[in-house]
Amino acid sequence: MAVYTVDMRKLIKGIVQFRQKALPSYREKFADLALGQKPDALFIACSDSRVAPNVFASTDPGDLFVIRNVGNFIPEQESASAPSVAAAVEFAVFSLKVRNIVVCGHSECGATRALLEPPDFPAPALDTWLRNSRAAVERYHAGLAPDTTLAPHNQVSQINTLLQLEHLLTYPFVRDAVEAGHIGLHAWWFDIKYADVYAWERELGRYVLIDEKQAESLIMRLPQ
Ligand SMILES: [Zn+2]
Repeated sequence: MAVYTVDMRKLIKGIVQFRQKALPSYREKFADLALGQKPDALFIACSDSRVAPNVFASTDPGDLFVIRNVGNFIPEQESASAPSVAAAVEFAVFSLKVRNIVVCGHSECGATRALLEPPDFPAPALDTWLRNSRAAVERYHAGLAPDTTLAPHNQVSQINTLLQLEHLLTYPFVRDAVEAGHIGLHAWWFDIKYADVYAWERELGRYVLIDEKQAESLIMRLPQ
């Protein structure tokens, strides 16, 4: 099967297509959104073009406050390496008062591949950035992946998603809000090939497919 390719012309023509076909039904929505946003969730995902929460979670404009970076990393609070990530977390928690934070990892992630096999191009910034997930590789080598039947880079990706959730808890204001039950933390994992989304279940020690039953269970446990 061919690798899906797209060029910039599709994006530019897409704007015209949106104006002609979809804008009338969105006009009111955007007029409302211009007055402010009140998303319920901070969504932290990889920059990967294939991770499309607007498709797999049927989201609309205004639904998600989003941080995207290579590998869906949240540097630990002590490391001042990424103030943009910390700034977005602060804004989401204090200004938007989100009730949920989702870290969404995914299969076939280039970042977790690069953790296992250094890239063959000069990438000093990427190398520094990947330090935010070295612990995931150590855990992988220690056999701590939740699903050892997956390809190595996907095992690292599943561990990385949990590791980044731990990093979030190094921010005292996040930890306090989670402990007080004001914010719910979620680790999700998107399997690109099947377009399935899984949710981490700590009690079970594994990721569980978000089908109707699992969705109901997740909704019941959301912060009130
Ligand atoms: Zn990725």
